Amino acid sequence: MQNIQGIKFKLKTKEQWFCDVCSGVIETAKDGMLEWDSLISEEGMIDAKNFRIVHVRSIEGCKNNRSEEHLADGHLHWFTGPNGLNNLLSMYERYTFDPIEFNKIIRRIHVDFYEEGARLSQLAREDSYEIDPYDSGDINQDDLLWLIRKYGNENCILMILSPLSRQVLNKSTKVNLEGIFHGEAA
Ligand SMILES: [Zn+2]
Repeated sequence: MQNIQGIKFKLKTKEQWFCDVCSGVIETAKDGMLEWDSLISEEGMIDAKNFRIVHVRSIEGCKNNRSEEHLADGHLHWFTGPNGLNNLLSMYERYTFDPIEFNKIIRRIHVDFYEEGARLSQLAREDSYEIDPYDSGDINQDDLLWLIRKYGNENCILMILSPLSRQVLNKSTKVNLEGIFHGEAA
């Protein structure tokens, strides 16, 4: 497996994730959940949407604004590894959902470096690089590694922020990064 040298902050590939609620690091799959909203559509199908990778609800400091209305979920470790990939793919048979949204979840769980690299792709688009121009989530390994090398250090705070938080944070914001990282520093 390729490695990323010289990056101050990195996740253990496919063992750690960023939480979509608190933006903190999910240290192991056992600390995480895959959640989604489950709704019955007019056609009687089960619609799933708002897929998110989050801390288990018992984790301190990760409880903000977490509605349980329409909540469906599964432990993140049910969805990791080869059996986990099977479980994810079988959801195509049981639910209707936006495949682009759901494929991003599959990639976050199963594609090396996707969790860190993909969230930097917006920065590359702002710099006029043609990486995933339509935000479909289709980013190859070379581009993921390039994104992490190019933007990973100077924007490491952006990597750990939720997409919403990143929208309101100016790219050039200077923030003391010490103390923010509670994952593994390289
Ligand atoms: Zn969290």
